[in-house]
Amino acid sequence: MSSKKFSLINFLYKDVSFDSEESQFLLMMRFFYIITALYIVSFYIFAAVSGILKEAPILLVWLPLHVACFFTTYHCGRRVVFHIFSGGILTWLIYSVYLMGEDYGAHYFIYPLMVISFFATYRNFRGKAIYMTFLLALNIAVYFYGTVHEPVLKITEKQGNVLNVMYTVTLFVCMFVICFIFSNTNQSALEKLNVYNRRLKKEAETDALTGLMNRRCMYKALEENMSIADTVFSVAIGDIDFFKKINDTKGHNFGDDVLKQLAAYFMEYMKEKGIVCRWGGEEFLFLFPSCGIDKAYGYVLEMKTHIEKMPITFFGETINITMTFGVEEHKAGSLVTELISKADSKLYDGKAGGRNTVVK
Ligand code: GH3
Ligand code: MG
Ligand code: MG
Repeated sequence: MSSKKFSLINFLYKDVSFDSEESQFLLMMRFFYIITALYIVSFYIFAAVSGILKEAPILLVWLPLHVACFFTTYHCGRRVVFHIFSGGILTWLIYSVYLMGEDYGAHYFIYPLMVISFFATYRNFRGKAIYMTFLLALNIAVYFYGTVHEPVLKITEKQGNVLNVMYTVTLFVCMFVICFIFSNTNQSALEKLNVYNRRLKKEAETDALTGLMNRRCMYKALEENMSIADTVFSVAIGDIDFFKKINDTKGHNFGDDVLKQLAAYFMEYMKEKGIVCRWGGEEFLFLFPSCGIDKAYGYVLEMKTHIEKMPITFFGETINITMTFGVEEHKAGSLVTELISKADSKLYDGKAGGRNTVVK
């Protein structure tokens, strides 16, 4: 019993991916076909019991046609499926008014069609407005037709009550399915948007090669630190010594790997001390919040000493590198560019003085 139920669910959800609005729409249409098929079956039972079926045997073609249309949801796109479904509903609406008059609720089937057409089709606003106007005109026309045309079947008050209950339940379930699927779709769209936004933000702030913060993000962090009154912080800029030679002798890929391995070390070292970014090609910028120049100098010296002993291995080949750093403390009222250029000129002094050093 439970395996049968499970296979029906699989059948309904066949090819439905919850990332795709198209397939969710098709799933909704499958549910609609089942709900309306149940309605048709209950109508048959009602019509057989009240003798209507004898007077309108053409009704019997409705269910096989309906079942045939159900399979369009497995083979056609959303536009075709929607048109076939709406064609079926509107034909039923017109025929039921011809048969039983307009008192028995069939015209209410227009409302789920309106909602689906508005929220689940690819039409532009103009297309949707035209379709709405068509439904409105059809609704009015059917109403007036019902008032002047004598129904083929004479429906008693009791039969009318049963019909109204059937329409109301069917409509209620259809509207419930629409609300359920659209609210799920909206929610998953919002979740997707949040994930994309977070990913975009991360990509906009990250250097693709090393995974470190990029220059733009560091610039913002520096400006934020400077905007705090009476704040003390220091920066250091570090540049790999003779990096061009590594590229020239070992290849660009080796050079890239040097940058990545250094970045991993910096990220680890700076975890509780501040932040680090890839400032340019083979230059890194460090921000030490709440740190005077002497403390920052101590940290940078520690990094420099570690780097000169750090083996850098790429495809079995190991090299050692050195770096030169310039350290500068933020002075009240100075700009980011001034602070960086002071650190940079100390770095330049370090290079001129023989490299593998920290200048404060
Ligand atoms: P110095 O000690 O004076 O800093 O010498 P240097 O060779 O390190 O300095 P230079 O500025 O002449 O060379 C830096 C080199 O860094 C040049 C450039 O090709 C290389 N470079 C910049 N970005 C990347 C990168 O993303 N990957 C690799 N492999 N190389 C890069
Ligand atoms: Mg350089
Ligand atoms: Mg260099």
